[in-house]
Amino acid sequence: MIAAVVKENAPGECRVALVPDGVATLQAAGIDVLVERGAGEGAWLADSAYADAGATIVSFAELCESADVILTVTKPPTPMADRLRAGQAVIGTLAPLTDPGLAGALAARGVTVISLDGIPRTLSRTQPMDALSSQANVAGYKAALVAAAAFGRFFPMLITAAGTARPAKVLVLGTGVAGLQAIGTARRLGAVVSGYDVRPSSRTEVESLGATFIELTSVGSAAGAGGYARELTAEEGQAQQDELLGHIARHDVVITTAQVPGRRPPLLVTEDAIKAMAAGAVIVDMGASALGGNVTGSRPGETIVTGNGVTIIGADNLPATLPTAASNAYSRNITALLEYMTSGGALAIDTSDEIQAGVVIAHDGRVVREDVARLLQPAQEGTDVDSTAD
Ligand code: NAD
Repeated sequence: MIAAVVKENAPGECRVALVPDGVATLQAAGIDVLVERGAGEGAWLADSAYADAGATIVSFAELCESADVILTVTKPPTPMADRLRAGQAVIGTLAPLTDPGLAGALAARGVTVISLDGIPRTLSRTQPMDALSSQANVAGYKAALVAAAAFGRFFPMLITAAGTARPAKVLVLGTGVAGLQAIGTARRLGAVVSGYDVRPSSRTEVESLGATFIELTSVGSAAGAGGYARELTAEEGQAQQDELLGHIARHDVVITTAQVPGRRPPLLVTEDAIKAMAAGAVIVDMGASALGGNVTGSRPGETIVTGNGVTIIGADNLPATLPTAASNAYSRNITALLEYMTSGGALAIDTSDEIQAGVVIAHDGRVVREDVARLLQPAQEGTDVDSTAD
């Protein structure tokens, strides 16, 4: 089997799906590796490093022609999706629930579609494959640095001959993987940190990092399935926003990370809360998306300074801004998954397997993940969908 690493071409994307260390791992599993020329450049990984590790450097056209399995970080470049053919497979973080059309189009060409964001995350054996966690970890770290860089004062307490600076007060809303890493990083920078989440189980994790857990009296537990939060009702959401306002106003820096799978990110920081913050305060919204984020008015990739002097930074693909660390981690994730799905040097698709049922989105010309197929149905009447698959 030949696995091939593409050069990502999404704007601002500097990560690469496989680093040179991963080449030997795949070769040991009977997989030859092709690397598109310049694929690792954005992450400071030269073609020569891949060649030294045993990979063959090829052009885009050669890669499309020869690859059995194409490894990507995000969606394959558009011209590639049009060139793939039956029998080939794409493995990446393909967001099939937000972009089902890509999976549908590849399925129609007979391409097997495997997405790392479908990995069941609560199984301990999937942790090495969990790209959502590895990239959230990178993003949380960078969010704290972005906040510190935009803040006009120090994070730590400093006692100098020129005076004493009090430490910054940082509040992290949403304390999953990214939030916990943001807390840890802000703490290491010396800030006084608080964290809040609707999953009460996150209290011990927040406290173990030396931060204070904030509990709201007006909103109870919203722990949902699979370790995730459920969406709050409109009343709960309103109560949460109202009670958070006082906490937000008391902080210098707020980092928001709240997500609910398959839903628009919850709004946590309202216009009133922003108005209640002091001039010079900084908000980093990791939930910023085209659909809206955790903070009123935030937009991905944009920085706004409000009339009362609050800087709101809409995060946009933070993992790509730490491309070497993010690629190293992603490479281990994709290698672990590929090894798991390979038998005798070939992909062994088996959607009765618990992990494969999550990651295999399309196979044998059909969209086999039922939730993705359902999203495609109005557009693809008559498409052959395997309704027995998970
Ligand atoms: P996520 O990115 O989906 O969401 C980030 C955080 O936002 C979560 O902690 C969530 O509870 C929180 N949130 C959602 N709505 C909120 C609201 N209205 N107000 C405040 N907070 C809100 O989450 P994630 O980081 O991917 O992690 C989700 C869960 O999965 C966590 O419990 C994490 O520990 C768990 N997890 C488990 C494993 C494992 O067991 N192997 C691996 C990875 C993640």
